[in-house]
Amino acid sequence: MTRFIADTMLGKLALWMRIMGFDVEYHNSIEDEALIERALVEDRLLLTRDTLLVRRRRLRGRVVFIESDHLEDQLRQVVSLFGYPEGGFLKRCLRCNTLLEDIDREAVKGKVPPYVYTTQKRFSRCPSCGRIYWAGTHREKMARRLKAILGKDLL
Ligand SMILES: [Zn+2]
Repeated sequence: MTRFIADTMLGKLALWMRIMGFDVEYHNSIEDEALIERALVEDRLLLTRDTLLVRRRRLRGRVVFIESDHLEDQLRQVVSLFGYPEGGFLKRCLRCNTLLEDIDREAVKGKVPPYVYTTQKRFSRCPSCGRIYWAGTHREKMARRLKAILGKDLL
């Protein structure tokens, strides 16, 4: 599966691609040179809104110009080029892009709000930053938004 790195202007796109299950590295503050270096070293395709960055020699064949300023159109462009990541919906840490691990409910006691602990059965955790995730209503909200944009049910 293609791995990506998004430029600083594409934070929202990076987040929504992670929600869908794409592997997308993102830094909200990074110099162009460092961004190019990360793309090459990590073998990631660079997504950018920067017309100068697109023309950089070192990135030949490893860069995609994102045409629109609007998230909806950006997501449609990504899907038209790369399709959907399989079975990846909400399987990544939205903060740091790491794949989540399932954890026992007992293990999150005291680490999530009591109401959440009482009402949720399944939890997962980011092995990198430690953030804990549960299904909740945001899951359906995100799926609904993606369905409205892309016409496909990812749940
Ligand atoms: Zn994380």
